[in-house]
Amino acid sequence: MFNWSKNRRRKRILQTPWPSAWESFLTNNVNHFRGLSAIEQDKLRDITQIIVSEKNWEGLSGLAMSDEIKVTIAGTAGLLLLGVDDYYFDRVNTILVFPNPIRRETTDGLIVGGQAHHSGEAWQGGQVVLSWQDVVNDVRRPFNGRNLVIHEFAHCLDGIDGEMGGSLHFDDLATSERWLQVCNAEFEALKTAAQHGLPSLLDYYGATNMAEFFAVASETFFENPRQLKHQHSELFGLLVKYYHFDPRLWMPQIR
Ligand SMILES: [Zn+2]
Repeated sequence: MFNWSKNRRRKRILQTPWPSAWESFLTNNVNHFRGLSAIEQDKLRDITQIIVSEKNWEGLSGLAMSDEIKVTIAGTAGLLLLGVDDYYFDRVNTILVFPNPIRRETTDGLIVGGQAHHSGEAWQGGQVVLSWQDVVNDVRRPFNGRNLVIHEFAHCLDGIDGEMGGSLHFDDLATSERWLQVCNAEFEALKTAAQHGLPSLLDYYGATNMAEFFAVASETFFENPRQLKHQHSELFGLLVKYYHFDPRLWMPQIR
């Protein structure tokens, strides 16, 4: 019954005409949009409409929430869902956006600015917190390996099993087990690289724990897929299986 009414509501959302202004937000602010096939672009428009409509969007610390902010975040997060059907980060109910990087105090909640800042968070309880300034920086510097929205929403996918711990569920058990082996070996290698300052395609932040490893690997998968395939071939292949697409097909040909 619940699914039936949810599906009906989503059909209604998709009957709403696609606002023409939103097209330029996807074209200009979602780095892969121009590289998608026409079918994938259509699907991303649908995903964007549903995420924009279903989530609570709140601008904090004086940030005025706008369609551009919603469509940029929903469209980028939607890239993660292009390979699946009928899933729209259902456990995420609220997206909080700060104008600038945020600092988390242990007792006082979230505080804007400060030295020890970071750019976003995904909470198991269903909230995603993002800094708009960092989202915009990722738009301005496409394909540099960093993408905050991809990072935080990858945590949300990781949390579908009730725990953000980097263990993923594939279509078959053997692949899920292989993921754990490959992920562990890559995680240990990244820890060693971070400890000794060795060059690494994957950001050192991924050496924090297995959850961060998956989020960082996902950023690299979307942002630098060719290099990831070249340098971490099995990890890349498993991420293709997990997401059900190969982002190399979306990249500009000169890359
Ligand atoms: Zn993270």
